[in-house]
Amino acid sequence: METVTYAQFMVMVQVDVVYKSEHEWNGKKLTRSLLVSGDNDCFRFSCFPTQVIKDVLAVEIERILPLAKLTSEDKTSIVLGLVDRLMKQRRTWSEQKWIPYKVRVEKTVMVPPVDMEAMLEEAKDQNLLESIGTNVAKMVGSLLGKSDDLLMETIRDAIREAGLTQFPDSYTESWLTWVQRQDNCSRLFLQPNRHKFVKVLGPDMDLFDTCCICQEDFYLGEYATVTSPCSHVFHSSCIADWINKSPKCPLCCAQLEVYTWYD
Ligand SMILES: [Zn+2]
Ligand SMILES: [Zn+2]
Repeated sequence: METVTYAQFMVMVQVDVVYKSEHEWNGKKLTRSLLVSGDNDCFRFSCFPTQVIKDVLAVEIERILPLAKLTSEDKTSIVLGLVDRLMKQRRTWSEQKWIPYKVRVEKTVMVPPVDMEAMLEEAKDQNLLESIGTNVAKMVGSLLGKSDDLLMETIRDAIREAGLTQFPDSYTESWLTWVQRQDNCSRLFLQPNRHKFVKVLGPDMDLFDTCCICQEDFYLGEYATVTSPCSHVFHSSCIADWINKSPKCPLCCAQLEVYTWYD
């Protein structure tokens, strides 16, 4: 079996799902359908023998939410189709190292007559989520630092204003977590002159251990941060997020050199 050193692939799966329901209304039969285009689901992996690529893809496909309703035969045929197309273009990848790959899957799923809101929630409708996000950010922005009760009440209003009228408290709480995360985000930064920031090259992929924050390897063209004083290596974006939870090295607990940025 052939492998190509340092070749790596980014697979981008665009999933469209049509949700359909049939129900009676005033003696007429109505069909309601909702087309949901999911986000691009992206995953990546290094070049392995074909069988390993199949296994990696099978695991990744399982994680894609809009594909959850597909049968295992459907999923297997997606995986086999992908492997086939990837293998045919292997020469191209090994030259370009990093290529996007787009697959479009369309699936009609029959659902019993249910509340449209439940359908939207199930499908993670992006437009609705975006407008809820915008409303929450707008209405809660000036209240940060106020009591959780007041925040929860305002978040409820923001969700209702975006058009979702019935939702459990757990949904409001998940937005509260999001708000609090925004509030804490990007306040601490690594001192730029103290740490080493590098762009990952081929040989670095062997040299660097897996990033212990996200458990992923380092890929070509990514940015890695070598911390000071302990010289541990993390993805730059991972460690940048991490220090806002704890300004200590996640591997050895050394105090990292950071500064605080106030808006
Ligand atoms: Zn990472
Ligand atoms: Zn360390």
